This record gives sequence, structure tokens and C-alpha cells, in this order.
Amino acid sequence: MNKHLPLFISLLLLPLLSWADSYAPSAEKVVDNVYAIIGPLDQRSPENDGLNNNLGFIATPDGVILIDSGASYLGARRVARAIAKVTSQPVRWVINTGSQDHRWLGNDYFAALEAEVIAMKRTAETQAEYAAQQMESLERFLGERLAGTTPSPATRKLEGDDVHITLGGVELIIRYTDTHYPGDSMVWLPQQRVVFTGDLVYVDRLFAVLPWSSVKNGLKAYAAMEALNPEIIVPGHGAVSDLTKARRDCGDYYDFLNNNIGAAAEEMVPMEEIINEYNSLPAFEHLEHFSDLHRTNMNRTYLEYEAF
Ligand SMILES: [Zn+2]
Repeated sequence: MNKHLPLFISLLLLPLLSWADSYAPSAEKVVDNVYAIIGPLDQRSPENDGLNNNLGFIATPDGVILIDSGASYLGARRVARAIAKVTSQPVRWVINTGSQDHRWLGNDYFAALEAEVIAMKRTAETQAEYAAQQMESLERFLGERLAGTTPSPATRKLEGDDVHITLGGVELIIRYTDTHYPGDSMVWLPQQRVVFTGDLVYVDRLFAVLPWSSVKNGLKAYAAMEALNPEIIVPGHGAVSDLTKARRDCGDYYDFLNNNIGAAAEEMVPMEEIINEYNSLPAFEHLEHFSDLHRTNMNRTYLEYEAF
């Protein structure tokens, strides 16, 4: 055997390995004609194009309904390729469940392909409000991979709190959750008993309470999601789940924040004291990002309750 062969092979594998490290969006079948695109649990990066969240799509005879559009122009293009592997139908509708960067900054890409971009009215308003801040922060994570991205809030703004829309015989019900960002929503497919929760539900990783999040709303919206009795949950982050797993990784944590931290704030227990008491929380320590988010989540929950 040629003694240079092992070196030759390892050089040959080098680009393959680094390619394998980068995240490639791919469609995972949920039920017939309904797909999830499950993103990695880590931070936004040039390798994942900010697609560190879940998206989904529904193939109908009248075209594809895409749920959320990714964080950038280049990310949206990769999502479009993942869809094209499953169906030759064009994307007719993009529905944004929220206004966090990776839910909507790919809108412009799909709008240019003549998709109609749809969201609840207040979702679209929050998109416009946060656009500049999100572009600035994404630039730090994505660098030149943000090229070509133009923030384009949803143009068809749905009025009301409980919206029913249909394309190609597929019925969708959209409802506000108002949890991670003001105006966030979830999409329920009553015929398939599948719910796309947007950033209401996170599994496998801890959710982050942001300064503008509401854990009070999270508690209510989570109960409303459970009351739908979905067979399948496509969470905003983490693997496709059922009610049991979502409750364990997420619903119980909304309960904890509201019932333990919120209640302590109302009783005026000092913040430091209550945060130190629950610093360790074995039920949730298996979740990714627990150690970097848990204390801040408790702090922001306390502030939300203290404000009232
Ligand atoms: Zn998210």
C-alpha cells in the first residue's frame, strides 16, 4: 500500500468533515403532507445561517404553506431547497408565527418568488418594531452570510384573535400566544391534529425569558395549546414531540416560573433569596442551555410579577 495513502484520504475527507459539521435543513415528515424542519439547538452561526429554530411546511394541491421563513436571505434559500426535495409545488403562503429574527427575516426571499406573507396583525407590528435591532444583532452572528437580507414584515395582516384560513383543502387556525415576543402565535391543523407552536414550546433545551417575554401569558397559552389535545407538537425549538414530552421539558417550567418565582415576587420575598433557593432544579437540568439561562429567566419572571 502506498504509504501516502492515509494522508491522501484524510486530506480528501477534510472538506467533507467540515461540510458535515454545517447544518443542512431537511424536511422531516410529521404526517402525510406535513413536514418539520428541525434546527440545531445551538446559537446562530454562519454555518447554520441562523436557522437554529424549527420551521415547517404543508404541501397542498394549491401550493406549499411554509410556517416561518428563516433568519436571512441565504437561510431562506436553503429552506427552499429542502422543500423542493419533497414537493415541486411552489411556496404560495408564508405564515410567520412570530417576530424573532429566524421566524421572519427570510420573508423577502419568498415574497420575491410571489409567495404571500401572512401573520397575525400584532405579529407583523412587532416585526416592524424589532427589525433594526435584530439585523444589528444578527450581523454579529452571521457576518457576511447576512448579505441580501431585507427585513420585510408580513403584508397580509390577520385581524381577530382566532383566525381560520384554508389553502388547498387544508384548514389552519392561528391564535395568539404572546409569550416569547408580543404578538407571537401558534398554528393548529385541526384535520391533522398537529400544532406548530412557534416559540411557545421548547423541548430538549430551556426556553429563554427575554426582557419583552411574558411568562404569565406563557402559562395561559400553554394551557390553551394543551386544550387543543394535539397528537403531534412541532415545537419552536427541539424535536417533534407529544404532549407528555412538551409538558416535561416546557409546560412544567412555565408552571415553576409562575407558581414559584412569580408567587414569591407577589409575596415580596427578596429576589436574590428566591433565585438562590431555586438555583438548582434537577427536573430541568437535563435541558440544553439550563446553566446559562435559568437564573436570568427567574430574574425576568420576578420583574414581570413585581411590575403589577
Ligand atoms: Zn426562537
